[in-house]
Amino acid sequence: MRGCGSSWQALHEFGVDAAVGYVSVISDTMDVSPTTVFQELGLSEEFFEQRGLLRFEDADELDVVQTDENGRIHELVTNACEAWQAMKEAALIAGHEIFIVSAFRSASRQAEIVRAKHLSGIGNDEIFAVSAPPGYSEHHTGRAIDVSTPGYPVLEEEFEQSEAFSWLEENAVSFGFSMTYPRDNKFGFIYEPWHWSYTGSGKVP
Ligand SMILES: [Zn+2]
Repeated sequence: MRGCGSSWQALHEFGVDAAVGYVSVISDTMDVSPTTVFQELGLSEEFFEQRGLLRFEDADELDVVQTDENGRIHELVTNACEAWQAMKEAALIAGHEIFIVSAFRSASRQAEIVRAKHLSGIGNDEIFAVSAPPGYSEHHTGRAIDVSTPGYPVLEEEFEQSEAFSWLEENAVSFGFSMTYPRDNKFGFIYEPWHWSYTGSGKVP
């Protein structure tokens, strides 16, 4: 039993979001539209398309891949979920513990995150160097994961110094995962050694 068996409809994430490091104060019943947030920030979808960002649809069928001690669940599409479980087991056998910090995130949830940053006074350039605009995050697809290992701060470049990262660099591709935002990536995002995406070309279907 690998934990990818049960199927769930996409749920809104709520509460503490490790990806942004603060508590969302926005009601989990509020559906924030990406278009509304773009208007609030004075930006258009064209702006992001000119930057070369790719649009991603929300996954609609998701499996629970990991449940944290605080009850927070992380979800991926089935094949990414199974590939992650296989990769995690292989890493463990090689002596490296890896865990998920963040997996599926809806466009609506991304809109909440971006709006919260905007409302806290952060400028657009700074917001979108770190966060994808809603509708443009690989996390919408249920194929992207933010990974960490014990002893390292989550979502920090320092992760690249870990043995777990070296193992991923060498082995993740054989499970179908690749690092999407390397140094000086063409999308204009910061270097994210923790962000990996399942592209389906590994040993696990
Ligand atoms: Zn990520």
